[in-house]
Amino acid sequence: MHHLILDWFSRKGRVFPWRYDSPDPYHVLISEYMLQQTQTTRIAERYPIFLAKFPNILSLSKASNQEIILAWQGLGYNNRALRLRDCANAIVNMHEGKIPVDYHALLSLPGIGPYTASAIMSFAYGCDISVIDVNIRRIYARLNGYSHLDKMSIKSIESFAEQIYPKGKSSEWHQALMDIGAQFCKAHQALCALCPLQEHCASAFNVWIEKKKVKRNEPSHRNIPNRIWRGRIIEFLRNTNEYLSDSSDLLRGVLGVSIDDKDQTWFEETIVPALKKDRLIHYDSSTNVISISQ
Ligand code: SF4
Repeated sequence: MHHLILDWFSRKGRVFPWRYDSPDPYHVLISEYMLQQTQTTRIAERYPIFLAKFPNILSLSKASNQEIILAWQGLGYNNRALRLRDCANAIVNMHEGKIPVDYHALLSLPGIGPYTASAIMSFAYGCDISVIDVNIRRIYARLNGYSHLDKMSIKSIESFAEQIYPKGKSSEWHQALMDIGAQFCKAHQALCALCPLQEHCASAFNVWIEKKKVKRNEPSHRNIPNRIWRGRIIEFLRNTNEYLSDSSDLLRGVLGVSIDDKDQTWFEETIVPALKKDRLIHYDSSTNVISISQ
């Protein structure tokens, strides 16, 4: 199976600007941060622009809140931008600017969890380590005949993951599985006829497809989740002249309708505190001016 998958990856693996034969660890860190909850097509567009602005860990560590929030345009979840800068800062201060080749040291950095730590070890440094994201977990469960990924315990997945990846080829193997998960072995559709794992898979052509989960009720306003409104507010500020606005103009500009007392209360009591807590805005209550955090 190893030869089959590695050969398939060398011929059919997806091409992204952050995939190179000898990747720079800094580039891997940036791409893995961006890949948390953002689509690859959007990242492919923004990644080169971001790297041109912050070409290395030192330049990133020195970025002000405003600089990093502006550079994060189009990537969503703006507080990730600040965590990434904080992570760069910690690397400069605690590791002399070198991204550590140590799983536990990576885990102690802001915004880095078990998946990202193992991805950096594997993709940036070529270490022998298993990498498990939700797509790989689903593939491993299905390879073992568990159509529903929750039926295979995390412990069993981890033990299977450790045994199955070809030593010395962790990076190629796991990136191949990510591509297979994105293109064939999807959560709500399994294209087994096209999948290179077909002949090794206990679930091939017999996959029980999970129904789409109904999203739990997210706090919303005017039927749109508050997190989308928060993103729109930052986007609105990014597009103003000096990245600031009178709070009423901002609210009107974002809602696009005449605003009433309910909108005002929601904005002041829910949205502004959340954006301040995330360090994304500064609110001057004496002038009612809201700006992107400096
Ligand atoms: S054969 Fe089907 S179920 Fe098995 S890994 Fe491929 S797409 Fe998934």
